[in-house]
Amino acid sequence: MSSGLSSAWASLRDPASLRADFPALAATVHGRPLVYLDSASTAQKPQAVLTALTHAYVDLCANIHRGVHQKSQQASEAYEAVREKARRFLNAPQAAEIVFTRGTTEAINLLAHTLGASRVEPGDEVLVSGLEHHSNLVPWQRLCLARRAALRVLPLTKEGAVAIEALAQRLSNRTRIVAISHASNVLGCVVPVAAVVAEVRRLAPQAVVIVDGAQAVPHLPVDVQALGCDAYCFSGHKLYGPTGAGVLWGRRALLESLPPWQSGGDMVLSVSFEATQYQDVPQRFEAGTPAIAEVIALGAALDYVAQIDVAALIAHESALRALAVERLSQIDGVQVLGGAATATSHVPVISFVVPGVHPHDLGTALDFEGVAVRTGHHCAQPLMAHLGVVGTVRASLGCYTNQADLFALAAAVEQALRLFRRR
Ligand code: PMP
Repeated sequence: MSSGLSSAWASLRDPASLRADFPALAATVHGRPLVYLDSASTAQKPQAVLTALTHAYVDLCANIHRGVHQKSQQASEAYEAVREKARRFLNAPQAAEIVFTRGTTEAINLLAHTLGASRVEPGDEVLVSGLEHHSNLVPWQRLCLARRAALRVLPLTKEGAVAIEALAQRLSNRTRIVAISHASNVLGCVVPVAAVVAEVRRLAPQAVVIVDGAQAVPHLPVDVQALGCDAYCFSGHKLYGPTGAGVLWGRRALLESLPPWQSGGDMVLSVSFEATQYQDVPQRFEAGTPAIAEVIALGAALDYVAQIDVAALIAHESALRALAVERLSQIDGVQVLGGAATATSHVPVISFVVPGVHPHDLGTALDFEGVAVRTGHHCAQPLMAHLGVVGTVRASLGCYTNQADLFALAAAVEQALRLFRRR
């Protein structure tokens, strides 16, 4: 199988050759070249991932863990090999701590259900931050309702960053779970997770710290041991992988202490009408036939990103982010949200509003120019309320974004606003 790796990955000096790895970027939309600025929703896929997906279906199409036949064994090996790739990607201690899920949402729901059932009593507390995606809020809210626990919220600064100095007031000896994003899907601001963990260990050592890494993994090196958290979740499709496959990393002792979540085939050792014995971790949490081909292709995405010079990636993406903010801020009426950014304070996700113009109208006008952005509340309604907006226009970058994309974005915004104002 072709690795599809570009020699430009070592330095990221030649974005044009990176782009060539992503066939979907050659598309046209409404007769214009596609300018894809919606990578935070889902990233485009390099050829290596598409090839791996086809390979999984053509050459390895069999169910895993159950067949004595060769295809089943090959598919099982290919699937299991991705655990080690994910372990390396996160610098997790053990491959057995990697649970495959459908994505971040499923990973968080798994944790909310299993932790809820095993550790949360009436009067306990779960702490989230004010900028969470609904995926890292609603499962905890439901858990609190079901267990008669209290949902507590870490406040935000005016600009929308997490005010971690408020941890001291929000943590208590009843805090059981702290669930926090590594980076905001709306503003791009990076949460200093290691500092949050240190405070939690100091002030609420009984609490489990869970990190939603959906928006961080495509842009930052992640080392779960350095972060010190107990669990970390991400979606493969935002990391240049296919939809339907994501990762939950959890400390082995934590995973082993949890009851199973979904039940069915593959997560059991023995079953009788009287009693059922469950598999060890991680299989205990992977009931039924998993997304075999997608997990194998996620492995190709992990190989792909492993080729990236991370320092060069951060420099590249933060320069592009700064360029986008500069160009957008020069446009009359445009307000970029989220405050000032440095190279490491924000991932390349930019939200802006134009007072008097609905984000959907602006997004629709941009689409006619071939510019794909996301508009609306971005599944973060409490953050919208905090910022005092109904929604935003969000431009989010990937490793393949180049300056021309951002010039096209700024030109399309200018043109759309000229048209709106003429009317
Ligand atoms: N958390 C964050 C911060 C996100 O941006 C997203 C996706 N927009 C999710 C969770 C949910 O990810 P998924 O839909 O892939 O499960």
